[in-house]
Amino acid sequence: MKYLGPHVSASGGVENAPLNAMQVGATAFALFTKNQRQWFSAPLSEKSISAFKENLEKSGISTDYVLPHDSYLINLGSPDAEGLEKSRNSFLEEMQRCEQLGLKMLNFHPGSHLKQITLEECLTRVAESINFALNKTQGVTAVIENTAGQGSNVGFSFQHLAYIIDKVEDKSRVGVCLDTCHTYSAGYDLKTEAGYKTTFEEFEEEVGFKYLRAIHLNDTKKEFGSRVDRHDSIGKGLLGMEFFERFMKDPRFDNMPLILETPDETLWAEEIQRLLAVSC
Ligand SMILES: [Zn+2]
Ligand SMILES: [Zn+2]
Repeated sequence: MKYLGPHVSASGGVENAPLNAMQVGATAFALFTKNQRQWFSAPLSEKSISAFKENLEKSGISTDYVLPHDSYLINLGSPDAEGLEKSRNSFLEEMQRCEQLGLKMLNFHPGSHLKQITLEECLTRVAESINFALNKTQGVTAVIENTAGQGSNVGFSFQHLAYIIDKVEDKSRVGVCLDTCHTYSAGYDLKTEAGYKTTFEEFEEEVGFKYLRAIHLNDTKKEFGSRVDRHDSIGKGLLGMEFFERFMKDPRFDNMPLILETPDETLWAEEIQRLLAVSC
């Protein structure tokens, strides 16, 4: 079965996120558990934690299909010692917030070398950062998102993801989230039938579906291989509806959160219905 929903707002408190998801008919959702533009936040209150759990129960959405996203400030592969330490501590705080909320995954972009260290050095730092956070937490899987490869961002190649995973000590708590917009922008052809087949064969070979924990289901405004990250609404961008139909019918993507990070939130309810309608 397919579980689907948007990255919803948690403004006013994390406890509002499940209600926002419910309103658009979602069976999965993503959220920020804190202000994504700040390094650190006040701890979650007991009240907020229990309200979150209550509202999640009310929404009928299982924690298996909730995919928190970390702050955009964090760079787990930072070339700079101070930046790296701050990033690691901030990431650890986010992992602990997930633990408190009873959530099982934290999704993040691997990092950037900022042209100051090599790609390999950066990827190694990312893996060490993951080890640091996993050693201090329990029950939360670090879910690495592939990137479009904009600027000096690493993680745009399946090989980068494999390189990181290889250096993570606890393989049972590391996973991958593929963003369809990023994948296409990074130069993996998802659009054509042949390209779709080859891309996921390559993913199986390099990384393995056993590590796939989630999908960010987005259309894209930018052309194939552009390395530019611009999401579009489902079926309105360059990937197009034919891709989404093929994807929704593909059983390899059953039973994991499929998250919409599409730009027009007034379309979310409709996007969900439209995608579910073509899923069988
Ligand atoms: Zn994404
Ligand atoms: Zn993106």
